[in-house]
Amino acid sequence: MKNPPKTAVNTQHFNEENPQPTPQRQTIVNLLHTQGPLTRQKLVEITGYTRATVSTLVTQLQECNALLATETQKTSGRGRPTQLLALNRDCPQYIGVAIQKLRGTATIHNVIHEPLLSIEVPNPSGIISLEILEKTVRELSVSARQHGLNLHHLQAVGCAFPGLLPNQRLNVLPNTDSRELAYAFEAFIEDWFGYKPIIDGTARVAALAELRHRPALTDCLYFRVSDGVAMTQVVASNLVTGTYRLAGEIGHITIDPNGIPCFCGKQGCLETIISNPALCRQSNVPSTYVLLQEWSAGNPQVRTLLTQAMRIAGAELAHAALITDPGSIIVSWNLTQQIPELFTILEESIRNGLLPALRRSIQIEPAILPEVTSCSRGAAYLAAMK
Ligand SMILES: [Zn+2]
Repeated sequence: MKNPPKTAVNTQHFNEENPQPTPQRQTIVNLLHTQGPLTRQKLVEITGYTRATVSTLVTQLQECNALLATETQKTSGRGRPTQLLALNRDCPQYIGVAIQKLRGTATIHNVIHEPLLSIEVPNPSGIISLEILEKTVRELSVSARQHGLNLHHLQAVGCAFPGLLPNQRLNVLPNTDSRELAYAFEAFIEDWFGYKPIIDGTARVAALAELRHRPALTDCLYFRVSDGVAMTQVVASNLVTGTYRLAGEIGHITIDPNGIPCFCGKQGCLETIISNPALCRQSNVPSTYVLLQEWSAGNPQVRTLLTQAMRIAGAELAHAALITDPGSIIVSWNLTQQIPELFTILEESIRNGLLPALRRSIQIEPAILPEVTSCSRGAAYLAAMK
């Protein structure tokens, strides 16, 4: 029988507090992280794995330079000296690359996902292209060399890709350009680092990073506004991808049937009205930075526009919440993260659209991670999920 399509990505093994069994290798890493250097014998005692299993796992981790035998304890009497094993926190293991319209970002993580290096490359053309990917990857490699970080022991590379993802099962969706570009991204990264990257949509990747910083969060809607507008539904720690990996395309709900054309082929989508570039265009300012300044200066047009944008976004999020019944809604949007007043308008608008009995029970919170950080770090977490 054919396997059913996978419609969600499980994130549980990231959660150190989770009671479910993790892969054995991750258990060893978690133990050395939380308890510090341990001997093989101690690892056998704590995990209950056989001596041979622990030995194999330790060898594997040593081969990728994630583990070092830090010192030799002289045991009294007979037998071989005992090695104390410790994590090597200076060795790059995972790379996350995120390409957005206005910038490329990349980050290098060690075995326990501490960031060792992060870079940001502006993309003045505002066009997603192979060129900005190349620039970002090149700059990351140069910067790694300058910081003495050797990329020879990399385990995996993840990539956050905006736009609709390639789909193996249905050739007509998404549009050919974005599919071809995603394949070109994959080929370039594989060529450069020697690993085929794991690619996923920006909103899902950013949600993954946010979840990592909120271990208790298992069910939510993660709403993200930047160049585009998207949402990720998290159910029992699974990121819902949908059958065609297009779940959460809230940005392409029609708000104004006579509105301006959207790149998706429709008209007047939510994204054409409330995304950051759409708001800048409507208020005739060059950047969200200026938009925020105009808001603070009390510019009446900007005040009206942003208030209206919050109300529209809130109404659509309320619809999403009515359909999915989430425990909480997390909002990643630099406008609402920087201006609490805007967040309050958005929150009120969401609550007004919920069932009266549920209005006070859903948690609505701004994201912890800044928008820029969440994409590349999420891509590195994604890499580790292979
Ligand atoms: Zn659209």
